[in-house]
Amino acid sequence: MRLKIVQAGEKVLRQKARDLTTDEIRGSTVRQLVEMMRETMRDAPGVGLAAPQIGMALRMAVIEDREQYQKILSPQQLVERDRRPVPFHVIINPKISLVDPEDTDLFFEGCLSVAGFTALVPRARKVIVDCLNEHGEAVRIEASGWYARILQHEIDHLDGSLYIDRMNPRSFMTTDNFSRHWKDSTLAEAQSALGLSFAP
Ligand code: ZN
Repeated sequence: MRLKIVQAGEKVLRQKARDLTTDEIRGSTVRQLVEMMRETMRDAPGVGLAAPQIGMALRMAVIEDREQYQKILSPQQLVERDRRPVPFHVIINPKISLVDPEDTDLFFEGCLSVAGFTALVPRARKVIVDCLNEHGEAVRIEASGWYARILQHEIDHLDGSLYIDRMNPRSFMTTDNFSRHWKDSTLAEAQSALGLSFAP
C-alpha cells in the first residue's frame, strides 16, 4: 500500500519526531510501516523517506539508492558526488555526528515533500550515524558522499528541518528548469551564473 507524501506546509514536517520504543519496533505496526514506506519511496521514486513525510512524527526513515536511479548521471558526476548504490535499510532513533563540519560538498538536492523544486545544499562529506535497524539491533553507519547527504537529509526530517532551511536561496529552482538549464553545468558554472560568491 502506497502512502500519501505530505508537502511543505503540513505541521508534521516542522515537528520534532519522537523516538520509537523497543516494543514498538518489534511490533507488527512498525513492520507494516516499513513495508509501506519502502513501497511509497520506490513508487515516488526517491532515495529516502522519513516517517514525518507520511504524516507520522516518529524517528524512523527508509533509505535505498538503487543503481537504476544513478543512470541519469554521467560517470564523472557519480564520481564527483561520491555516489554508489545503497541497499534498502531502515534507520530508527538515529544519532548523527558530522566527522568534520568544515569538510562539505555542495550539490543540488530535492525532497519529495517539496515536490517540483531543487536547490544547492551544502552538506558534510562524512557522517557517523548510530541507530537501530528494523529488528531493534544497534547499528553504526559510517558514510561519505551522497549516502552521507541522504542520511543528513532524512535525519533533518526527524528534527522538523527541510533542505530549504539549509539551501543557498539563490539556487532555488523548479526541477523542470534544473533539467532545462543546469543539470550538465559544473558547480563552478552554476555558482557563477547564479551569483553565488562562496565556495563550498
Ligand atoms: Zn526530504
